[in-house]
Amino acid sequence: MERRSFNKTLASSIAGISISQNIFSHSKIRKKLGVALVGLGSYSKGALGPALLETEFCELKAIVTGTKSKVNEWKLKYNINDNGVYNYKNFESIANNDQVDIVYIVLPNNMHKEYTIKALEAGKHVICEKPMALNAEEAKEMIEVSKKVRKELFMGYRLHYDPYHLECINYCRNKTFGKLNVVLAEFGYGISNRDHWKLKKSYGGGALMDVGIYAIQAARYCTGEEPISLSAKEYKTDQTKFNEVDDTIVWQMEFLNGKVANCATSFSASMNNLHLGFEKGFAKLHPAYTWRKVSGYTSKKQLSFPSINQQALHMDGISNYLINKIPHNNVGADEGLKDMIVIDKIFESISNNGQTISL
Ligand code: NAD
Repeated sequence: MERRSFNKTLASSIAGISISQNIFSHSKIRKKLGVALVGLGSYSKGALGPALLETEFCELKAIVTGTKSKVNEWKLKYNINDNGVYNYKNFESIANNDQVDIVYIVLPNNMHKEYTIKALEAGKHVICEKPMALNAEEAKEMIEVSKKVRKELFMGYRLHYDPYHLECINYCRNKTFGKLNVVLAEFGYGISNRDHWKLKKSYGGGALMDVGIYAIQAARYCTGEEPISLSAKEYKTDQTKFNEVDDTIVWQMEFLNGKVANCATSFSASMNNLHLGFEKGFAKLHPAYTWRKVSGYTSKKQLSFPSINQQALHMDGISNYLINKIPHNNVGADEGLKDMIVIDKIFESISNNGQTISL
């Protein structure tokens, strides 16, 4: 199947809508929504910018950067005019730019709350990168502002638009292999740059906030439930490198009826797995959380889906929701908050020496 048409089919099937329904009918579309990227670091440059060249329902209309040397390259590559260039001092004036409908926050984690609130108050819908904030309290504040100003707040949860993850969710909901009883979810990598903000506490660094959150997400969307209790322990391989933030965390989450998720995250070990253990079989993704190409198999077959662009589908899914009210794939701010609640409890368990904490 051609990539673009597969994207459409996928987006419609995962939103729970009949594939025959032409939700992408262009007659309904007023115009492409305008997106502003805030922070032109590695994720914006490597993934979101290029994805916005593939999207059908939104396009890049503005950039927010503190680095003058990036401006020309972005203006040329994405055809952005002078009025679409902002810095962190004049960011709020984006309120006057009616070409921008959605502001996408791609900043270090400690800046998510401040810039999300500023963008909402500027009258824009917001997509916020993961983790939503530094803790659940901040996430709640962000949601309150979005309700107050009546603008939508979404999470950058791209895997909700990945066919391998959607297939796994289908197995869980349809009980293809019987009941789901065990989830094993691990995401980690060796971080090499000792000066990276991801190793600084004030920036909201640490492996759990950076990649462990994917294991929490996967356990939550596969079970379709919130954990009822959890326990967690932290391990450090290098006291100087990880003196401010967590290195390796291993935790267990208990769900209803004896379902359990064993999870791990690390900045000193390479892991990228999702294993779903059902009564009568299994599904396994490896690599599971990459945005390049997920791969996997079940106890019955190899999984094989055409390659898609997760970020393009994700931003199109949100845009289609905003334009046509077609449901998005559960990437609202409530999902971000639920993950922050779990993260807070994991840190609470660690500071209580692995004590089991109820949620
Ligand atoms: P990065 O360090 O490469 O980029 C961050 C950008 O913020 C840089 O352009 C930097 O100049 C800018 N910035 C503005 N003010 C800053 C300040 N005071 N201090 C430091 N930087 C400042 O980081 P990244 O990897 O692009 O991550 C950005 C966000 O995107 C993070 O929240 C991260 O968790 C998220 N992310 C998500 C994915 C995903 O797959 N969904 C992947 C990578 C990163």
